[in-house]
Amino acid sequence: MYNNFQEYLKQELAQIEADGLYKNERIIESPQGAEIIVKGKKCLNFCANNYLGLADNPQLIEAAKKGMDARGFGMSSVRFICGCQDLHKELEAKISEFFGTEDTILYAACFDANGGVFEPLLGPEDAIISDALNHASIIDGVRLCKAQRFRYANADMADLEAQLQAAKDCRFKLIVTDGVFSMDGNVCPLDKIYELAQKYNAMIMVDESHSAGVVGVTGRGVTERFNLKGEIEIITGTLGKAFGGAMGGFTTGKKEIIDMLRQRSRPYLFSNSMAPGLVAAGIRMFEMMSETNELQDKLHANTEYFIREMVAKGFDCKPSESAICAVMLYDAPLSQKFAARMQDEGIFVTGFYYPVVPKGQARIRVQISAAHEKEHLDKCINAFVKIGQELEVIK
Ligand SMILES: *Cc1c(COP(=O)(O)O)cnc(C)c1O
Repeated sequence: MYNNFQEYLKQELAQIEADGLYKNERIIESPQGAEIIVKGKKCLNFCANNYLGLADNPQLIEAAKKGMDARGFGMSSVRFICGCQDLHKELEAKISEFFGTEDTILYAACFDANGGVFEPLLGPEDAIISDALNHASIIDGVRLCKAQRFRYANADMADLEAQLQAAKDCRFKLIVTDGVFSMDGNVCPLDKIYELAQKYNAMIMVDESHSAGVVGVTGRGVTERFNLKGEIEIITGTLGKAFGGAMGGFTTGKKEIIDMLRQRSRPYLFSNSMAPGLVAAGIRMFEMMSETNELQDKLHANTEYFIREMVAKGFDCKPSESAICAVMLYDAPLSQKFAARMQDEGIFVTGFYYPVVPKGQARIRVQISAAHEKEHLDKCINAFVKIGQELEVIK
C-alpha cells in the first residue's frame, strides 16, 4: 500500500526542493541565547523570539526545578477530569494581573488558545473580521468556527470599516488582529480599531504573542501602548516567545468569555495541562516583569539603536515599534545569499521570501533581544555593512 504513496511524497518533496522552499533545520548545540553554538561554531543569534533574553535565565531555570520538586514532572490529565494544581491557578491570576484583565485560561500553546477560542463563542449568525496577515493559528481557529468570515487588508482601517459595514446585520461581531505582525514588525493600530469597534458595536481580540513583553513601556503589549488596558474583550498570547520561550499559551479577558472557554474550548477539554515546572517558571517570570523594568528598557534601547544605525548605513528598514527589524532586499535569491553570507560572518539571521511574504518583498528579518549587548549589535551591523557592500545592496 505504501509504495504509491511513498512515490507521491518523494515527488512532492522533490518539487518543494526544486522550488527552493525546502526547510532545513539548523541544529543548535547550546542553550538558546544571544550567543549560540551551531556546528561547533559560536555565532550570534538574531532570529529568535527570545526578546527579553529569558530563554536561559537562571532564575527561571531555578523556579522550574523547584516547581518540579514540589509538584512533580507531569499532570497526566486534562483539567476538567482530574483537576489542576494550585500553581496553574496562580499563573492564571498572574497573567490577568499583568494584562489588567478579569480572568485567564491556560493552554499547552498559543496555537491551541487560538484554535479553541472562536468555535465555543460564535455561531453562524455571527461575524469574525480578521486581518489578512493574522497568524496561521488564528486562521485555523476561524476555520473551526461556523461564524461568517470577513477579511481586511493588513492594518487597513478603510477596509476594516467596509467589512464592518458588510457584517452589520450579524448578531455579534469580533474583530481579530495580531498585536505585532511578525513579517514587518508593525504594531496593529489598536486605537483606530477600537474606535471602529465602538462605532459598529463590535468586540476585539488581540493576539499578543509577538507584542507581550515587547510593546509598551513596561511590556504589557499593545493594550498598554494604546492605553486600552482592560478594554479589549479577548487577548491571547504565548509563554514561548518573550516570556521565557519554553511552552504554554493563554487566553485572557472578560470573565464570562473565559468561563465559557472552560466549558467548551476543545484544546482545553481534550488536551493535557501545562507541566508543573513550566508553570512555576511562568509565575516567577511574571513576578520578575513587575520587580524591574530593566529588560524591557534594554530591549527598547537595543532596538532603537539597531534600526537607527542600519538606516544610517543606508539600509532600507521597515518602520518598527516592535523588536522586529525587516531589512528589505526585495529579491528572493539575494535574501538567501545574504543570510548565508551573514552566517559565514557568525551572524544567525533568516531570509524571508515568497510565499512567506508577498512577491518582490524579500527581506532579512532581524529580531533584537535584551540579551544582546552593544558589542553584539555592532558586530551584526558591521556584518550587514560588509555583506551589503559585497552584494551591492548599499554603497
Ligand atoms: C508564535 C505565535 C503563535 C503560536 O504560539 P505557540 O505558543 O508557539 O503555539 C500564535 N500567534 C502568534 C501571533 C504567534 O506569533
